Amino acid sequence: MAKYSEAIERLIDEFTRLPGIGARSAERLAFHVLKSSQDEAMGLARAIEAVKTKIRPCRECFNIAEADLCAICADPRRDKAAICVVEQPKDLMALESTGVYRGVYHVLMGHIAPLEGVEPEDLTVDALVERVRRGPVREVILATNPTVAGDGTALHIASLLEPLKVQVTRLARGLPAGGQIEYANKSILADAISERRKI
Ligand SMILES: [Zn+2]
Repeated sequence: MAKYSEAIERLIDEFTRLPGIGARSAERLAFHVLKSSQDEAMGLARAIEAVKTKIRPCRECFNIAEADLCAICADPRRDKAAICVVEQPKDLMALESTGVYRGVYHVLMGHIAPLEGVEPEDLTVDALVERVRRGPVREVILATNPTVAGDGTALHIASLLEPLKVQVTRLARGLPAGGQIEYANKSILADAISERRKI
């Protein structure tokens, strides 16, 4: 098979590694970069560099942050006594887009899945319990996905929080079982959070 020059082949290779990008799309993207202006191409390179050098987990909630605290934790108008627990930053973004929630978050960075080797210690569960213990926290909303792993993770966290005398709620059903928060429709998500129930 014919090969392009080494630099182009390398760029195609890198694009091929991206999720959802096949060989032909990778080739198309590489040629797009080749054709684009110096400014555009370097802008892309610098944007990639910036997410890896400037971004870090929020000290409080583990959301994506560019400073010690993420924009939500740093916002004095957010209710710090309500913590919504999500699996991924993408879920947080989906819930934020509903505009109905005024509390803060805690990002677990996954869900408990012993068969895949993911134990509670691999997530930010300990930090959450510590955060609630430090308080004052009125309510913890478990907004893990309505999947077997998400439900299991929610139950595990609920049992850890039980001795701490904090109100623990779970997003209302209405979210399709087995579905994922990041793909849920905005109005369903808004209902799920407004009609959360005690567990
Ligand atoms: Zn934060």
